[in-house]
Parts: sequence; C-alpha cells; structure tokens
Amino acid sequence: MPDKRDYYEVLGVSRSATEDELKKAYRKLAKKYHPDLNPDNHEAEARFKEANEAYAVLSDSEKRRTYDQFGHAGADGQGFGGFNGAGFDIDLEDLFGSFFGGGFGGRTRRKSGPRRGANLKYRMTLDFMEAAFGVDRDITINKEDICGTCQGKGTRDGSEPDQCPTCKGSGEVHQHQQTLFGTVMSSRACPDCGGTGKKITNPCTACGGRGRKQTSKRLSVKIPAGINEGEMLTVRGEGEPGTLGGPPGDLYIEIRIRPHPVFQRDGNNTYCEIPITFPQAALGCELEVPTIDGPQIFHLKEGTQPNETFTIRGKGIPYVNRSNTRGDHIFRVILEVPRHLSEKQKELLNEFGDSCTKQNYQKQESFFSKLKDLFKS
Ligand SMILES: [Zn+2]
Ligand SMILES: [Zn+2]
Repeated sequence: MPDKRDYYEVLGVSRSATEDELKKAYRKLAKKYHPDLNPDNHEAEARFKEANEAYAVLSDSEKRRTYDQFGHAGADGQGFGGFNGAGFDIDLEDLFGSFFGGGFGGRTRRKSGPRRGANLKYRMTLDFMEAAFGVDRDITINKEDICGTCQGKGTRDGSEPDQCPTCKGSGEVHQHQQTLFGTVMSSRACPDCGGTGKKITNPCTACGGRGRKQTSKRLSVKIPAGINEGEMLTVRGEGEPGTLGGPPGDLYIEIRIRPHPVFQRDGNNTYCEIPITFPQAALGCELEVPTIDGPQIFHLKEGTQPNETFTIRGKGIPYVNRSNTRGDHIFRVILEVPRHLSEKQKELLNEFGDSCTKQNYQKQESFFSKLKDLFKS
C-alpha cells in the first residue's frame, strides 16, 4: 500500500481547522471528485475515497484527537484503515444534496431513503425531412412502472402493508463495530425489506408484491423542427419510478437521421450537387434547384465554371425553437461532358471549336504562357 497522505493535507486545511472549515473543504473536494461526475475516472475515485476517509476521521472529534496524537501509524490495520469505504456513515446527501438536484447515483449512498428512478434511453430514427421540419411521433417504451393493480402498494387487496419486524419500519439496520478507538456505528438498508420498512404477507398477484412491474407505455413525443443527428430530447419524469417516494427518472431520446438521396446536411445548412450541361454552363440558364421546400428557379450566370457553388439564403434547416430563422441551401454545379456524340454533333462541335479564340479560354491562355516562361529559363 502506498504511503497514506496526511488527512489535513488531503482536505487542504490547517491542523487547527474548525469544523466549518473542514466541512467546506470536504464539500469542495467531494463535488470535484464525485464518481457520478467522473465516470470511469480511477484517479478521481481514489481522491474521492481519500477525502471521504479524511473527513470521516477529522469530523469526529474523538477520532480527530486520536489521529492528531498517533497519526496513521497508530491506526494501521485495525483503525482508520478499517473504516475505508463501507464503514463510513457520512450522509452525502445532507452535505450537498441540493447540488445534485437531490438525485444521487446510488454508489455512494448508504442511507435508505427516497431514491430517484433510473433514467431511460430511447433511440429514435427520423427521416431527413422529419428532422428538418419536426414531427409528432408515438413511441412505445418498455419500462418498470408502478403496478396498476395494487397502485404500487404490493398487497393483494391494495391495503397498506405491515411494518417490517426486522427493522421496525425504519428500513435500516445498524451495525456496531469495535475498533481501537471505540465503537463505530454504521447503518445499511434492511436486508429483510430492502429498505422499505414494510412487510407484505399477502402479495399482489400482478406484481408479486414488488409494487412495480415491467410495462409497455405509449407516449406522444413532439420532435422540434431542426433537430440534428446525435441530439438528445429529454422527456421529464418518463424514466422509471423512484423508490420510497423518490421522484421518477427522465427519458432521453437520442436522435438518428436517415440519409437523404439528394440532400446533405451540415448543422443548419443543406447541400446538394446538380449536374449541368456544357451549353447551360456556357450560356447561363434558369436552373431548377431542389431545396427542402421544393424546386426553386435559380438564374445561373453565363460562363459558370465546373464545381462552382452557389448559396440560396434562408432555404436550409430551421433552428430548433426559432423556426423562422433558417440556415442556407448551398449547391454545387457538376459539369457533365456529353458522350456518345453523333457524326452531326461532332461536326457541330468541331465547327464550334474552330471558332473559339484565346479570349474564350482564359485559364488555358494563362497556363500555357506560364509553361512558356518555364522553358525559357
Ligand atoms: Zn426491514
Ligand atoms: Zn401489484
């Protein structure tokens, strides 16, 4: 085991720190390193445990006195080390419950009390146009919900269940642990009733007394215009129900968008490519441009070059919740060179070619003059 850091150092306080200063310092560290805020971060987890341990010892005046006198040395093996993890009885929710909006993840929670229900995730695939203009969708989610037969009470006749004899209805059992420094008390959820404090003798047949069961629920969801790939919609309160009176979790809907055969999307702009003919490019034309609103006439200028892009303002995707503000539609013209020409067409094209002068081909002109300069030197 690596050397243990000094508890005061861990919390970043002086040895004369008051109870209030300790609490403040611990609260700051716990917020920073809490596992719920740092998923899969082992460093943070270690810091969180370290801070927990330091605070558990220093916030108890008797343990603090012992620690001040003997340090870690007096405690090895049986003392403070033994408190690690499960032995601590710090009510984190009491310390900073409001910061987490009352909803604690559960890993660090030791007291049995109201707990928020699990969040659920649902993946929804939309057509390109549905995402662009919004849509109302009915979805069916499978979740654990309050049993409709017993209204969550778990009893067959729907009456209030009896008190659990093991914990006398408190939902907690206490354990006393003898250590070098005296008796340490810890509490955990009652194993007999799972922390509910209730005992059901005549269970509801629909849910087997659990008070909840797997249910399919139909929901109507309004998808706003402009939603994009990977974005998440939150439906408050449609997750799983809370336990012991806790609030329900939320339902998160993750959006996927099917590709469109013509349009692409980048943020709120739409893109497409349009093949044009040589005469259209050379002479200019009234080009029919597809947009998500339907085709729109665009005046293509004389002498348009291959791969030139043009923008039609305000014809892209609406911004979510600002549906009269929209992105742009950008299109690129692809010059298609004609193939399989007839003899007559070849003749015409040759005639046309012969009639052209340097003036008609500026790029070619400047390219060959550059080449000439190159061979001179
Ligand atoms: Zn019990
Ligand atoms: Zn039931």
